[in-house]
Amino acid sequence: MNKLLEPISELKGVGSETSELLNDVGIYTIQDLLEYFPYRYDDNSLRDLEDVKHDERVTVEGRVHSEASLTFFGRKRSRLTFRLLVGKYLLSVVCFNRPYFKNKLTIDSTVTVTGKWDKHRQTITVQQLSFGPKKEQSGIEPVYSIKGKLTVKGIKKFVSLALSTYLKDIEEILPDDLLQKYKLLTRREALYTIHTPHEKEDLKLARRRFVYEEFLLFQLKMQALRKIQREQSKGVMHEFSREKHQQFIDSLPFPLTKAQSRVVNEILQDMTSPYRMNRLLQGDVGSGKTIVAAIAFYAAVLSGYQGALMVPTEILAEQHADSLVQLFEPYNVTVALLTSSVKGKKRRELLEKVEKNEIQLLIGTHALIQDDIKFHKLGLVITDEQHRFGVEQRRMLREKGEHTDVLFMTATPIPRTLAITAFGEMDVSIIDELPAGRKAIETYWVKPSMLERILVFIEKELSKGRQAYVICPLIEESDKLDVQNALDVHSMLTSYYKGRFQIGLMHGRLSSDEKDSVMRSFSQNEVNVLVSTTVVEVGVNVPNATTMIIYDAERFGLSQLHQLRGRVGRGSEQSYCILLADPKSETGKERMKIMTETNDGFVLSERDLELRGPGDFFGKKQSGMPIFKVADMVHDYRALEVARQDAAELIQSKDFWEEEKYEPLRVYLHQSGILEGEKLD
Ligand code: ADP
Ligand code: MG
Repeated sequence: MNKLLEPISELKGVGSETSELLNDVGIYTIQDLLEYFPYRYDDNSLRDLEDVKHDERVTVEGRVHSEASLTFFGRKRSRLTFRLLVGKYLLSVVCFNRPYFKNKLTIDSTVTVTGKWDKHRQTITVQQLSFGPKKEQSGIEPVYSIKGKLTVKGIKKFVSLALSTYLKDIEEILPDDLLQKYKLLTRREALYTIHTPHEKEDLKLARRRFVYEEFLLFQLKMQALRKIQREQSKGVMHEFSREKHQQFIDSLPFPLTKAQSRVVNEILQDMTSPYRMNRLLQGDVGSGKTIVAAIAFYAAVLSGYQGALMVPTEILAEQHADSLVQLFEPYNVTVALLTSSVKGKKRRELLEKVEKNEIQLLIGTHALIQDDIKFHKLGLVITDEQHRFGVEQRRMLREKGEHTDVLFMTATPIPRTLAITAFGEMDVSIIDELPAGRKAIETYWVKPSMLERILVFIEKELSKGRQAYVICPLIEESDKLDVQNALDVHSMLTSYYKGRFQIGLMHGRLSSDEKDSVMRSFSQNEVNVLVSTTVVEVGVNVPNATTMIIYDAERFGLSQLHQLRGRVGRGSEQSYCILLADPKSETGKERMKIMTETNDGFVLSERDLELRGPGDFFGKKQSGMPIFKVADMVHDYRALEVARQDAAELIQSKDFWEEEKYEPLRVYLHQSGILEGEKLD
């Protein structure tokens, strides 16, 4: 029996009352107590005031230089002040509600004071004061979160008692080889250190151990779940002529990039295997995900199945339908578009065809997961720009066809660290390469007052036959917001370029037919400049457009700006993105700066995550993010990657399930319920 699992009441001095207090913060066993980590540390080592910032907490030792003066307000509240000489500094010390100190503060006696340093007033407000020189003890004080009658001091006492009583019973759970490989402290050393660190360096080592442990355990769960899902899920086993399929790939107007070929292989491997595909395909804007989807669909169709492609907007659905109809025409694949604007008889007829397998590839918005749509033999579902779908929609989609292979495609706004936690149970493919010949988009951040020059710049591009997007945050004027609206900008540009260029207008309030016709004229270059709201944000592909102007760019988030920018730079011409912005906030300025510094969606999404924090990234509701005690997904992402890799290898290996040294990890998995087929939620 593991002694650490003994109830907390076994500890000396913990009676039933204290027991309950500890239970209230989740501590039931000795182990819980030992794993109740400090949430921060105070640095009580002596520091030179020169190095201490305003409002920072500091500990100093000095000699009392003046008699203390005491003032009372009311009966209980009081304020005591005196002068303290610390090295060359003569400063004031303020101490509230401790009048009894007055008589002990004799001139020239030595005291140690901890408190907040007000650099401007040269004053410390006391949190702790002790008489005499600083005691030779640790300079780093752990601070625990407390509740009710519990005190930090109390917890410290119990932790220290538990450490001395049970230290020898703390068992290692990581195998030796991993400890050595990463030079990790043992669990015993790390637990001891995290509660009683002597140096910041020790603390780092202890933290490092637990970061790895937490990530590894979490990833073991994810990887075990993934393995179980694979083994228990009977998927569609697509069988088709590889030769015919290869002919299709060879006939494309361009060779696939290496990265595209690699992910195509990964996808085909899933599709031809007996288990069900559950894969996330990440690729930056413009990396060529659509063609990868088409290749996968063709495999499904060749093996006698139907495919469904789901996208977040009607514009995108129409664009995909257009290009896939064209692409598949010579191969006799029937492609149809279903959006909310297909109604009544037309809709009924379409659905009938889908049910009879007369339509092999159906494209649409989320309308596709409505219940009345029955497929004859749905074998592959792909969602494009999947970060726009909620977790719930993703699940519904997966459940649509019982064994259907599912591929989620997304541009990078999901940072890798989040992707492997939020989508940890999925397989991940990454297109980390843009088609050859692309030039990096040049991005500029300018003040709105430069508009005149920008209009001239756009004109130069238009004269070369290129096209431009102009994005506005709003459709029409608003009393509440002082931002540009598409209607005004459209009429301004129309009169400015009168007789020379055609200006189109696109926004969410147009009917589907209107949107369709505007989009079509823009892709055929009958419209030269498209003024639009963010409805063109995702997926839209008009390679001849080389200039993107974004009004009030500070109103958009980084990933949104990156998506918008991704509408240009899709051909071989040099493209430009101009951010018109005058942000007031620091993060606003930071966002603009980051945009001008990088085109790399991976880098950008990591920076975005740093600015926003993981909770905000997906929006609170659908985050479903795991909570780590010590580890931080953003800052410890390297460890997360390493742990994921290790976990995947362990779960796949035979040794893991048999060898003695993995017993503690197996026990952990059993306790988590994963192996019994429980859902991870
Ligand atoms: P995204 O990944 O953003 O969805 P798309 O699939 O829309 O990107 O592709 C962007 C553009 O790149 C399209 O015009 C497409 O035809 C083109 N493209 C895709 N793959 C290649 C390739 N291997 N070589 C050249 N152009 C390509
Ligand atoms: Mg796309």
